Amino acid sequence: MIGRGLRRRCPRCGERHIFTGFFDLHERCPGCGMKFEREPGYWVGAMIIITTFTFALFLVLLVGGMIITWPDVPWNWLLGVTIGANLILPVLFYPRAKTTWVGLEMSWHPLEPAEIEAANRHVAARSR
Ligand SMILES: [Zn+2]
Repeated sequence: MIGRGLRRRCPRCGERHIFTGFFDLHERCPGCGMKFEREPGYWVGAMIIITTFTFALFLVLLVGGMIITWPDVPWNWLLGVTIGANLILPVLFYPRAKTTWVGLEMSWHPLEPAEIEAANRHVAARSR
């Protein structure tokens, strides 16, 4: 499930076409009918993932750049690259953080029977 999420797919069924735009998911998976936002405030988990990713990216680029170029660290260039990457990459990674969060959360909180039933009803209603 987490691997499917990392590949921007539905963690439940692997459906690829689950985004309506770059950032926005369909309300329900077109393949299996699962509702992505399972409860109010659900996307806070995706925010935690993207914040962790951004912090790790900052550390890897800044500390890695310092280690590679020590003792003549090109501070302006290194800070420019680090800040630029931290402005751009989290935005590009955010949709993936959402699907990764859905997969992660489903790994410890599987779909409830009512959610499975609603997903099946959605798929059945669509195929009529
Ligand atoms: Zn699905």
